[in-house]
Amino acid sequence: MTRHDEIAAGLARVRGRIAAACADAGRDPDEITLVVITKYFPASDVRLLVDLGVTDVGENRHQEAEAKHRECADLLGAGAPALRWHFVGGLQSNKAAAVAAYADVVHSVDRAKLVGRLDAGAHDRPGPAPTSVDVLLQVSLDPPDSPGRAGADPTDLPALAALVEAAGSLRLRGLMAVAPLGEDPVAAFARLSDVRRDFLADHPSADWLSAGMSGDLEAAIRAGATHVRVGTAVLGSRPSVQ
Ligand SMILES: *Cc1c(COP(=O)(O)O)cnc(C)c1O
Repeated sequence: MTRHDEIAAGLARVRGRIAAACADAGRDPDEITLVVITKYFPASDVRLLVDLGVTDVGENRHQEAEAKHRECADLLGAGAPALRWHFVGGLQSNKAAAVAAYADVVHSVDRAKLVGRLDAGAHDRPGPAPTSVDVLLQVSLDPPDSPGRAGADPTDLPALAALVEAAGSLRLRGLMAVAPLGEDPVAAFARLSDVRRDFLADHPSADWLSAGMSGDLEAAIRAGATHVRVGTAVLGSRPSVQ
């Protein structure tokens, strides 16, 4: 089996799962954007994904993402199908401006310090027209004192959202979350739904919800996800050496 056929089969399975989850939840599959997470996989896989109709890819580490984006620069030319790059990983503040130079969507904004730096990077993006970078606020679904907690506390979202809205080159789009390890994702995503309901009351147009990965995309779609971030179910196990 060629790599092309392998990826085509993975994509078909995942698209089938998304369609089935939408049917279960009474949702339209067109409401769901599949973001294929290509971390640790080569740029050649991004090319195959684009050939197979994928419009959105995601990465979680700056150096790897920047290099892969550069290797795929020719895919972004005039007449090429649109390819959007998503950054979904933990962001160091000293890398934020550099990430905003190539990422079209940043899913992992979880503290105030990142906002000004992302805005500066977004403002300096190359290209003829002013562009803006789409931003999702990452909300933590872990208990407040958990070690290694990523994401903002739900109580911090209003202030963070206000900062993003005030930034000239960023566009507030919605929320992102990762279900905690070891917890039933249905329960975790139910909490996320509650957080999102409150958030939407203040920011009705920021209605994206990035949630769901290979293991829990059905639960996320049931809880209202608009963007699922799927790696291994499309591309296979990630190489263990990074
Ligand atoms: C790697 C990663 C994913 C994809 O995980 P899979 O289990 O391979 O689908 C999704 N979201 C984030 C933030 C990731 O880092």
